[in-house]
Amino acid sequence: MKIAAGSQNSRFTSTWSDLAAIGRDQTRGGYSRHLFDDAEMALRSWFVEQAQRRGLEVETDRNSNVWAWWGSPGPGAVVTGSHLDSVPGGGAFDGPLGVVSSLMAVDELRLRGHVPTKPIAVVCFAEEEGGRFGLPCLGSRLMAGISDADHVRRLRDPNGISLADAARRVGIDPAEFGPDPVRLAMIDSFVELHVEQGRLLQQVDPQAAIAVGSQIVAHGRWRFTFTGTGNHAGTTVPADRKDPMLPAAATVLATRRLLAEHAGAVATVGRLVPVPGGSNVIASSVDLWLDARVPGAAATAALVDAIVAAARIEAELEGCSLVVRRESFSDDVIFDPALGLELNGVLKVPTITTGAGHDAGVLAPFLPTAMLFVRNPTGISHSPAEHAETADALVGIDALADVLAKLTR
Ligand SMILES: [Zn+2]
Repeated sequence: MKIAAGSQNSRFTSTWSDLAAIGRDQTRGGYSRHLFDDAEMALRSWFVEQAQRRGLEVETDRNSNVWAWWGSPGPGAVVTGSHLDSVPGGGAFDGPLGVVSSLMAVDELRLRGHVPTKPIAVVCFAEEEGGRFGLPCLGSRLMAGISDADHVRRLRDPNGISLADAARRVGIDPAEFGPDPVRLAMIDSFVELHVEQGRLLQQVDPQAAIAVGSQIVAHGRWRFTFTGTGNHAGTTVPADRKDPMLPAAATVLATRRLLAEHAGAVATVGRLVPVPGGSNVIASSVDLWLDARVPGAAATAALVDAIVAAARIEAELEGCSLVVRRESFSDDVIFDPALGLELNGVLKVPTITTGAGHDAGVLAPFLPTAMLFVRNPTGISHSPAEHAETADALVGIDALADVLAKLTR
């Protein structure tokens, strides 16, 4: 039996309004929900309460990912879910739509009378956006052993608080962080539902509310540190200046200019931090972060090398030094073709790629993963303008239930 459309609609709306007040960013608009801050902890509590209300068994794993189990945790698990954290000033749907849809897909399966032959789990992965400590997909990377636990414990947030200290403050023992091969081996497949973060689906099929994901294009982050000489804005003549803001600004412009020479590439400088950051002070150093997404590792390296070369020339012209550090990189991820075929067979919807990173991409080398995307009418994401219509979200929940039913039949 299926839930009547009306009640499904009102459940979604009321669940969504529970979340609407948590972690609003009064300065930037939208939401700021970062690992272990008050908003993220409130969302964790909300999730635990929702899971318990459904009689699911809740546990937090050694890497701060939260799991809600329908059936006993064990081998053959079919896992769905997403993340609850956001970028600074992010939208409401990136992450939480997948979590809410997963819980509601469980409801839907129960109403249909489905009896799973395998355990089903809903997971919330920790710090997917890297919004506080700069390392995206932190929880899934630690679980898979891709990121070194010692390195992760030492990561610092913009206020200088280490990840280890931030964890301790909320009662989590950072000594536990590390690979979780037993848990990884338990998972038969992972299906992540997510709001689309562009407009590709609308171009491929304007009628389709959802799509199956086929691939995540390669993406990474690089930190550029330009160092010059801090000085007085009023008394320092231009000839005496070594102002790191100039090569930083020129690098932003070079990034846009160089994209024209690299087909299919996108790259962004969305964060730039001058030190000390006074309006009447020539900065002594400027950090900027380059986010680049290009199909293929070699093509990504070619673009980033070209941007770094341009940045070095500009730094030299101003008498500044430049240090570039790669903070993260993920090569192209092709989702499991067999699982993708299975989803396509059940759903018969379009297939699209994405330029956005996801926990499903991190886990893809280790186990069969797949993604479902829900149409985003604005095509905007990582912004308060991100959107999904309730009707489309309900199509997504129904589709996720269909997929979970097929995988646990
Ligand atoms: Zn996301």
